[in-house]
Amino acid sequence: MDVRARYASVLERLDKAVSAAGRRREEVTLVAVSKLHPAEDVAAVAAAGQLDFGENYVQEALQKRQDLAGNPACANIRWHMIGHVQSRKAPQVAGAFALVHTLDSRKLADGLEKRLAALDARQAVLFEINVGAEPQKSGIMAEDLPELADYVQEHCPHLAVEGLMCLPPVFDAGEAARPYFARLRELREALRARTGLALPHLSMGMSGDFPAAVAEGATIVRIGTDIFGPRPPKV
Ligand SMILES: *Cc1c(COP(=O)(O)O)cnc(C)c1O
Repeated sequence: MDVRARYASVLERLDKAVSAAGRRREEVTLVAVSKLHPAEDVAAVAAAGQLDFGENYVQEALQKRQDLAGNPACANIRWHMIGHVQSRKAPQVAGAFALVHTLDSRKLADGLEKRLAALDARQAVLFEINVGAEPQKSGIMAEDLPELADYVQEHCPHLAVEGLMCLPPVFDAGEAARPYFARLRELREALRARTGLALPHLSMGMSGDFPAAVAEGATIVRIGTDIFGPRPPKV
């Protein structure tokens, strides 16, 4: 199957997952995750009507965007940063993405805020939660979320917090990931009550588990492999 056929098949499966959950298709945004795939594959999927694309590595993301700059099919792409962002890269990321899914520290919040203030720009962000409380994994522990959220509300007026994101500890495991998605939804409710923010977004669900995420209220699913095929190794 080529990229366009795989993309069409993902759209079909997403439609089914949304109906099975009794939800409406416009409640769920598909982010096509193009990390490590060439710019021409992004162009092919964009030409098929896809608007939202996700990248994990800052350098690669910015290079790919530059490569696609002259392509009219790509003019309206909304780029998402879904990978871990080191705070020293904050100046390159601030204001450059439709949504940064991976805010997970004060240091990164400060780095983004400083640059955004200089640019007089706002950046939409999600907090990345380490829902499985796994050591070594990025994202903040659930118990540290209230403190980081309070900090951002008080000190980072140029950050617009729109919700939560997670990568469950189980991978390609379908329904087994579902309790983690439910947990992210509960954390969102609690954070809403604490902050009074609307927090419209739950970014959760990938190729191997997106129907379970949609059933638990995902508003953004991030799908790479099922659209672009297996990823080449990172060099
Ligand atoms: C790579 C990646 C995805 C896409 O995963 P697939 O299994 O290829 O669909 C989604 N979210 C994040 C954060 C990723 O790094």
